[in-house]
Amino acid sequence: MSELALRDTTAAERGCAEPEVLKERGQREVFCGLTGIIWLHRKIQDAFFLIVGSRTCAHLMQSAAGVMIFAEPRFGTAIIEERDLAGMADANDELDRVVGRLLARRPDIKTLFLVGSCPSEVIKLDLSRAAQRLSRQHMPEVRVLNYTGSGIETTFTQGEDMCLASLVPEMPAEAADAAPSLLVVGALADVVEDQFARTFKALGIEHVSFLPPRRSAELPAVGPQTRMLLAQPFLCETARLLEERGAQRLEAPFPLGVEGTTEWLQAAAEAFGVDGQRLREVIAPAQRRAKVALEHYRERLGGKSIFFFPDSQLEVPIARFLARELGMTLVEVGSPYLHRQHLSRELELLPAGTQLSEGQHVDKQIDRCRAATPDLVVCGLGLANPFESEGMTTKWSIELVFTPIHGFDQAGDLAELFARPLLRKAKLEV
Ligand code: SF4
Repeated sequence: MSELALRDTTAAERGCAEPEVLKERGQREVFCGLTGIIWLHRKIQDAFFLIVGSRTCAHLMQSAAGVMIFAEPRFGTAIIEERDLAGMADANDELDRVVGRLLARRPDIKTLFLVGSCPSEVIKLDLSRAAQRLSRQHMPEVRVLNYTGSGIETTFTQGEDMCLASLVPEMPAEAADAAPSLLVVGALADVVEDQFARTFKALGIEHVSFLPPRRSAELPAVGPQTRMLLAQPFLCETARLLEERGAQRLEAPFPLGVEGTTEWLQAAAEAFGVDGQRLREVIAPAQRRAKVALEHYRERLGGKSIFFFPDSQLEVPIARFLARELGMTLVEVGSPYLHRQHLSRELELLPAGTQLSEGQHVDKQIDRCRAATPDLVVCGLGLANPFESEGMTTKWSIELVFTPIHGFDQAGDLAELFARPLLRKAKLEV
């Protein structure tokens, strides 16, 4: 891969809201988009994710989801064998057979996602045509969609973006006389979704839906009356497609920590004409609980330095939370991609002078990290163990998507994720 490291145009040229970004291209250390299936299959309860991939893909999924053994799992792998790779068998025929067997055995499946992988892309298996063909065969009982989870040029959270993007064309159009509605976009743990639904109800916002829905048959309608609030910062393609269908994105930071959650709810309240006093009253108890929970962590994390390797695309909102609400020092905040529009409020809130990096040249970043000797390193699993053996303290970024961290009532849990490794290290040193 080409080795390119360049600085963006100077801050003075861009205006002060946009910080300086170190752009890097080179070797990357990230998981692929298949990983998203681990949380998506729990969220969309009548869907099945069929990975069209190799034994490597199957092993990745088994080890990533290793603790969860179901009698009736909601994901699996159609293995591309060497015969397929060598063009000796018709992969489409084999896929049709696998899908036929699966759907005959599992009448509970209402949406089947064919998930592309590196091997299916290498042999140029056209899964979009396969999905159309299989949909024709199995509709109306089962809808068959496709997206790619390939690790070629993607990061693990993009798997969710691709999955949700595949749902957007299936969403019904809103009625011509539809009242304004709120669409929360991004997979949230059910407990968090329920909390937000209660808050919107208390604010008097009536028409609220979530993408993805818990049941795939309950896809919400979309159109010019839809106001969308992104719950995750990695949904570029999904947001683009929703905007194409008329939805209007509400500008807000992401609902992480007290500040992010407050502003996120405020954006919805303003869009739906909710009085500021009512908003303050509705959120005050949860806000107070969150502040109390964070108090305890501020003592443990305040003044500690943290270095983010680019991985989950949650780095900027989390860094903003750790710096502003817990007093941590940001050494470097790396992210695979910085979507300037979706992150605009987040970037404004970052402490002045924060070193941001976009993309990755892993060797150079490792050198910078070692030179900085931060108290805590947030990185993928592949880097964490070697760093730990060097005496550094690490946090696996993938835990940020496996753990409910959004909203007021999860702010303490989010802080705990970063406090725990430091506590563990302190105990080991005693
Ligand atoms: S999709 Fe690609 S990166 Fe992911 S497990 Fe399969 S081969 Fe590996």
